[in-house]
Amino acid sequence: RFSPVKRALISVSDKSRLIDQAKALHERGVKLVSTGGTHRAISDAGIPVKDVSELTKFPEMMDGRVKTLHPMVHGGLLGDRDLSSHKDAMHAHGILSIDLLVVNLYPFEAAVAGGGSYEMCVENIDIGGPAMIRAAAKNHAHVAVCTDADDVDAVLADMDANGGQTSGALRQTLAAKTYARSANYDAAIANWFADQLGDVPTYRAQSGTLRQTLRYGENPHQTAAFYTDGSDRPGVATATQLQGKELSYNNINDTDAAYELVAEFGRNCSTLPGGGAKPAVAIIKHANPCGVAVADDFVTAYKNALACDPVSAFGGIVALNGRLDKATAAEILKVFTEVVIAPSADDDAIALFSKKKNIRLLIVGDLPNPNAPSLTQRNVAGGILVQDRDNGAVADDDLKVVTKRAPTETEMADLRMAWKVAKHVKSNAIIYVKDGATAGIGAGQMSRIDSARIAARKAEDAQKSAGWDAPKTQGCACASDAFFPFADGMLAAASAGATCVIQPGGSIRDDEVIAAADEQGLAMVFTGMRHFRH
Ligand code: 5GP
Repeated sequence: RFSPVKRALISVSDKSRLIDQAKALHERGVKLVSTGGTHRAISDAGIPVKDVSELTKFPEMMDGRVKTLHPMVHGGLLGDRDLSSHKDAMHAHGILSIDLLVVNLYPFEAAVAGGGSYEMCVENIDIGGPAMIRAAAKNHAHVAVCTDADDVDAVLADMDANGGQTSGALRQTLAAKTYARSANYDAAIANWFADQLGDVPTYRAQSGTLRQTLRYGENPHQTAAFYTDGSDRPGVATATQLQGKELSYNNINDTDAAYELVAEFGRNCSTLPGGGAKPAVAIIKHANPCGVAVADDFVTAYKNALACDPVSAFGGIVALNGRLDKATAAEILKVFTEVVIAPSADDDAIALFSKKKNIRLLIVGDLPNPNAPSLTQRNVAGGILVQDRDNGAVADDDLKVVTKRAPTETEMADLRMAWKVAKHVKSNAIIYVKDGATAGIGAGQMSRIDSARIAARKAEDAQKSAGWDAPKTQGCACASDAFFPFADGMLAAASAGATCVIQPGGSIRDDEVIAAADEQGLAMVFTGMRHFRH
């Protein structure tokens, strides 16, 4: 249904496109009404405009807190032009109908992002703006509402195509957009308060800005979209895609898992003292790592990560904790890979990638801090589970040797690495690490012993495909994301060749497990922290 646009109320904080658009509306015969600052800007440009105070017979007051909160405004926005009772009320009280509302809200998000003081952030909470846009959107049967300049362009084009009227379809779309904007705005306010209170999960509101509509979800029959949460945590949501097809839902999920894992190893960077952390590479499939390695250079780290499970790495996601160089790019291109993500890349590496157009290359600029607080959410029927991200890390002092034999220094290094990887493997997780590279990963099994056996079998498969004399699990370190409820899982690791074990401890059968470890001559350390990942 078409609706004429005779009167527009304009009240905008961001005035960058105001004058052109006010002029365009005026040229189309639309009468303009405006609030203080907006009114001044329009009339200074020589365009006729009424002050909203003329409608309300009230001055703007309380530093602008009260400008448009008045029946003359809200009646004009909300009155149903099809209902005689509404028309009578408008007539009786001299309420003029408003057919188009153009509002952009006080820049609350910008005030927070700019590090504004508490008082400044509070003052940037818009009250009248959200009230008006919600009113206009409710009455979208008659009123068009614009919450940003692009919307005004769309309205002008619609009017031109429809003899000065707006179409019902556009008004409905604008209404939907308005409620999303208003919800995000309030969520940003709630989240800021949650941060002030330091109680993030309890008061956190859902908030997100649409980044892209996805072709489909986890499966082709599912619709999907990707939202940014405004946190600016470096990762797939903040990355620049240099080339390749559009990311899919699964790509985004897996790339996130890859980047979060590789961030555990710190940033490798030539401009950091000592070059920062050692080069680390993670290869991910279906959100689980199928190979992780740390080495003196990225080529070696990539090759060692790949050697862990070359079969699974096919079609995987590769993450680096530092700058992608040409030699490493060349190695990666030998294997069919979906996505590569890194903080940065050399020009010659980028040039090499450009020859394989389909592979997606994402550059982030930074690594996320794996220990920084943030939230994770997941849906259950009728509810949402919210928790702090697992940002736990155990310091060396927290590690407790529980066996007669303590790990050697080499064993300790592999144990630490295995524990870092374990945090990023779906439970039940068993990880074998030898010389800075995973030798076998058992993920997502319903029993811990199955994960231990699967990890060992992967190592045997890798041995066969590489032609090594023995699987890399000989003399490896073993990590378990949660305690061994029985000795059997740990013994399975020992029979695969593990000589040392890292696990949280805390089982009622710890004594049994420790005794079995001593019997095997294993060295075992307890972390006192669990890393379930379901
Ligand atoms: P102006 O620059 O025209 O004086 O102010 C424009 C801003 O005021 C817009 O962002 C609009 O959302 C906001 N606004 C309009 N009416 C009210 C009101 O009654 N109270 C508050 N707090 N803000 C308002």
